[in-house]
Amino acid sequence: MIGILALQGNYQAHIKILIGLKIPVKEIRYPDQLIDIDGLIIPGGESTTINDLMKRVGFHDEIKDFSLKKPILGTCAGLIMMSSLIRNDNQLSTLGILDIEVCRNAYGRQADSFIGNVNININEQAFKIKAPFIRAPKIISVGKSIDVIAKCNSDIVVVRSGIHFGLTFHPELSDIAFFHNYIFTKKNELMKENNAA
Ligand code: GLN
Repeated sequence: MIGILALQGNYQAHIKILIGLKIPVKEIRYPDQLIDIDGLIIPGGESTTINDLMKRVGFHDEIKDFSLKKPILGTCAGLIMMSSLIRNDNQLSTLGILDIEVCRNAYGRQADSFIGNVNININEQAFKIKAPFIRAPKIISVGKSIDVIAKCNSDIVVVRSGIHFGLTFHPELSDIAFFHNYIFTKKNELMKENNAA
């Protein structure tokens, strides 16, 4: 059972992808619900709002604990929440699950949103997808624990740190199920890959 943090943002589109993959899914609104799930998605939306709502019920420490054992996928605002530092915001308490520094809204306003060509390179497999970037952040630096999985032009747009993944775009809005499938149906292999690394 995979949980989707359902506080704010476009979590419904992630639910659709998981249902398509026949992965049982549960909406998570309170920290004690994390006990039942094997992985978590932090969706896109507005990171300031997600952060405030997370604070209100005490999600920060609980999700950090959860990340010690189980995989997390963050998309867009979700990636911002998983980062360790935000260049242009000091109000947000990020989770520090991905050792990356990000810059919010780095491509401009809503109207500057675009469909980007994403070049993915994972486990010696390379392929391209087209995916929407909506008021997306940029990853401006990565720490040693980070593997760069995909780029769009020269920007890093997918990172992996062991069992955790962060994407600056929205695969769920283009019906791209690759990441959900890779992270959540191959969970056991992912753990093995991670231990072998
Ligand atoms: N601009 C939003 C933020 O900074 C992220 C946008 C998104 O998740 N699509 O939180």
